[in-house]
Amino acid sequence: MAKNYKIRVEYLKQLRDMFENYLDDPMVERDYIRIDMLIERLENDFKQEPNEDGIISQLGYDFVHWQEFRRYYPKLIKFYSDGLYFSEAVSPGFKDVKISNEDTVMLAREFFAKQGDFFVNHFDEFLEDDSEESIEFFAPSNNFVEETTFMHTTGDRFLLAADHPNIVKLTAFVHEGEHIIDNVANPDFFENTAIRETTAMFMELIATDYFNNLFGLSEQNLLRQYELLSIVKSDTIDAIVRNKMLKIYRKNRYYTPEHIYKKLTKKFNKGYVDWMADYSIYNLYNYQIPYLIAIELYKLYQVDRDKALNVLIDIILNGTPENIFALLAKYGISVNKHSHQYEDELCLKLGI
Ligand SMILES: [Zn+2]
Repeated sequence: MAKNYKIRVEYLKQLRDMFENYLDDPMVERDYIRIDMLIERLENDFKQEPNEDGIISQLGYDFVHWQEFRRYYPKLIKFYSDGLYFSEAVSPGFKDVKISNEDTVMLAREFFAKQGDFFVNHFDEFLEDDSEESIEFFAPSNNFVEETTFMHTTGDRFLLAADHPNIVKLTAFVHEGEHIIDNVANPDFFENTAIRETTAMFMELIATDYFNNLFGLSEQNLLRQYELLSIVKSDTIDAIVRNKMLKIYRKNRYYTPEHIYKKLTKKFNKGYVDWMADYSIYNLYNYQIPYLIAIELYKLYQVDRDKALNVLIDIILNGTPENIFALLAKYGISVNKHSHQYEDELCLKLGI
């Protein structure tokens, strides 16, 4: 019988009720906030409420964490100014390929098995554990974004996948599946949001090639890679603007919120300033530096597959935002080294 992947909201509510009794424990409180937000998203068809606190309090929050991100800034600037320019994400027309939910899970498992025992064994641990009620496929929409979430105190994991009518269903599932693997292997790594996308983005890149070949398709891998590049690269513009906003905030932070808002809207379009309230510096950076690392690992994978996968395991087990560049340097990997070349090759192959 075909598997019916569905996350049961009643079960999530039971978890939430249970967490509610132990909110003085910070670990439980974190799980409570997570499950509460997940329930809200599921019950509201993923519609998100705008950030009511507004841009000034968001900048105040970012200002505290700014220092952590500033070291990444030169790398972002180089990525932004080198190679292709995207003002927004592109959506290529993918060839229709019908893949059932059950096949998606099975094919992703096969893909992980090809990458080695470390990956497939951790993925199996998740699959053996009531996966029918831990996975659900949703129709792609503007509101819905794939996600993986994890409850520290109970070990519950949930994978929200998108039901794309093409191979992106598989590659995006592999991305989320890698988050699950990382989470089973080292829950702390999953909390390192500044770098956790590294492994998932790398796995998705190699999955594009794998599934393109498996299905005998042509160029679907390149198109998905081009789409990912455009998504990440167009977001660097927002990250750069956020840095500029934070400079304005730093200079004016002892003045009233109205005064700071006036300064911001003098320099930037009001709609844009308000829109930026929904994004913290975390959302903006979290995919960009990890993507640049993933590109380096992707290039390494083409010439030395085992080494690339070993670096990946080292990152999952030992990587932190503080040591990530030193960890990569140990293997002779540095960010920004191949990204321009990667873009050139992608364009050449696509004839752009
Ligand atoms: Zn991700």
